[in-house]
Amino acid sequence: MTAAYEYETHEYDVVVVGAGGAGLRATLGMAEQGLRTACVTKVFPTRSHTVAAQGGIAASLSNMGPDHWQWHMYDTVKGSDWLGDTDAMEYLAREAPKAVYELEHYGVPFSRTEEGKIYQRPFGGHTTEFGEGPAVQRTCAAADRTGHAILHTLYGQSLKNNAEFYIEYFAIDLIMSEDGQCQGVVCWKLDDGTMHVFNAKMVVLATGGYGRAYFSATSAHTCTGDGGGMVARAGLPLQDMEFVQFHPTGIYGSGCLITEGARGEGGYLTNSEGERFMERYAPQYKDLAPRDYVSRSMTMEIREGRGVGKDSDHIHLNLSHLPKEALHERLPGISESARIFAGVDVTKEPIPVIPTVHYNMGGIPTNYWGEVLNPTADDANAVVPGLMAVGEAGCASVHGANRLGSNSLIDLVVFGRASAIRAGKVVDPDSANPVLNKATIDKAFDRFDGLRNADGGTPTAELRLEMQKTMQADAAVFRTAKTMAEGVEKMTAIAAKLDDLKVTDRSLVWNSDLMETLELTNLMPNALATIVGAEARKESRGAHAHEDFSKRDDENWRVHTISRVDGNKVDLSHRPVVTDPLTTEDEGGIALKRIAPKERTF
Ligand SMILES: Cc1cc2nc3c(=O)[nH]c(=O)nc-3n(C[C@H](O)[C@H](O)[C@H](O)COP(=O)(O)OP(=O)(O)OC[C@H]3O[C@@H](n4cnc5c(N)ncnc54)[C@H](O)[C@@H]3O)c2cc1C
Repeated sequence: MTAAYEYETHEYDVVVVGAGGAGLRATLGMAEQGLRTACVTKVFPTRSHTVAAQGGIAASLSNMGPDHWQWHMYDTVKGSDWLGDTDAMEYLAREAPKAVYELEHYGVPFSRTEEGKIYQRPFGGHTTEFGEGPAVQRTCAAADRTGHAILHTLYGQSLKNNAEFYIEYFAIDLIMSEDGQCQGVVCWKLDDGTMHVFNAKMVVLATGGYGRAYFSATSAHTCTGDGGGMVARAGLPLQDMEFVQFHPTGIYGSGCLITEGARGEGGYLTNSEGERFMERYAPQYKDLAPRDYVSRSMTMEIREGRGVGKDSDHIHLNLSHLPKEALHERLPGISESARIFAGVDVTKEPIPVIPTVHYNMGGIPTNYWGEVLNPTADDANAVVPGLMAVGEAGCASVHGANRLGSNSLIDLVVFGRASAIRAGKVVDPDSANPVLNKATIDKAFDRFDGLRNADGGTPTAELRLEMQKTMQADAAVFRTAKTMAEGVEKMTAIAAKLDDLKVTDRSLVWNSDLMETLELTNLMPNALATIVGAEARKESRGAHAHEDFSKRDDENWRVHTISRVDGNKVDLSHRPVVTDPLTTEDEGGIALKRIAPKERTF
């Protein structure tokens, strides 16, 4: 029997799900072109996780010294450990300066140099001369509150351009036609329990990452991979989910982030012997090697008994040698976080830190216009009509196996903007809206109703904790064949328990029990695809450090993992990496020999 829920229908040209940096930049770009645009978000826009982004946004503006988009592209290719799609990485690096100047003109209050230009700081993995020269200052910053500044500006601009916001609406599932076109999304309004169906010619998923699949993460509790969950339930694939970034400097205990900008401004790591050990692992770039590299080095130090603290299980980040004014002006937010979450005065003592889950390189596969891909046997780049994904929810793929710091914020605005440019071409404001496929709406309400009345033996919080602990232990910084095989087995059993959930609150108004349950059903397919993809990949690349296969294997594994999740089963296949750039050397593009795979050292 079909659950009976009344609902209100809303018609738009475009519906964007998510109001973080990616969702707002897409919303603004759509609305600016006169497309009727709705933005649906489960939290107030300026509370999206982007608000917490500290360090900054990468673009080769050359404000602090020589820089070039080709150097930025090279660093991104190398950072990705040659798994990113080359066309998308070229698009990112080339469009980045334009996207940042647009932000400036929209009103983002960037920090300034003496001459009044946008201030830029060094960040890990960003170099000059195709990785041969010194570190570059490429990361544009608004003190250590860059995400906050961007989010507030984009929200204001979106309102000014008449985008309509549906705030504290929870998107439950996609509406798909019989022949695979996305037609809209089914939503639950959290504060009054009403149901809403959005009918749109284009749906943009900008729902962020799924850091909360792990026990200790820097991401907000709302980062539950809802877009990935919706896509998986619609029978569409996820890509490269095994690549999860651990940030080297989460505060020990709380997981709260200390930005890489702290090392960019001159901070450094030490072990129990007071040694600056990064000099041994990365002689050239030291503490500014990329994140996967630094996280592994820290883990090695701890494993070899040189961790700090009573259990020798963490590392020190030193900032006390920096001038007080620099800390006050450039890093005020993290000085406060260190005080609150570690009880440390950064002008006097080191901060206790440990690698902490921070970013999902994998996500919903897209091309560099944000259009969602559903690879088939004949066409690896087949597009799903009516559906786009941008930001951390998507996988364009510009970060490949490892993302460079400050390359996510630029990904949000470059691809949020690209999706709007593309929608301007493929969405016809004068055409009629699609006739909705009632069957998928009923299916979404049935699932919702089933969870609302779930009366099994496993409370949501209990199952979530089991999942988080398993992911933390078995899909960690270092991975072995044994731990991953165990992880797959455990996660398969854990995912099966979704059928035995117990929800205690049956109401429809502010039912956080039910909302967290819906979120758990989204986290689960993301987590499952992560561990299954990791177990299958028999090499080490970027963030995937496999102890039984310690080398990168380009011959067999320079491929994207495509995973289709159905219940607790994951079906894996592959998609070729795009190795051709957008433009050739003759057209002013990068020389292919520049970006040919080689060993990744720093
Ligand atoms: C602490 C921290 C610091 C960081 N610092 C930097 C940095 O300095 N530089 C950098 O480049 N990157 C940084 N990153 C990474 C970067 O900030 C994130 O990758 C990025 O902000 C993600 O943006 P997003 O727009 O994709 O999603 P988010 O900002 O996470 O927004 C997701 C949106 O989707 C909505 N949503 C989700 N599910 C649903 C649903 N079911 N229904 C309705 N709405 C939904 C939410 O309400 C929200 O509006 C940092 C990340 C963290 C965690």
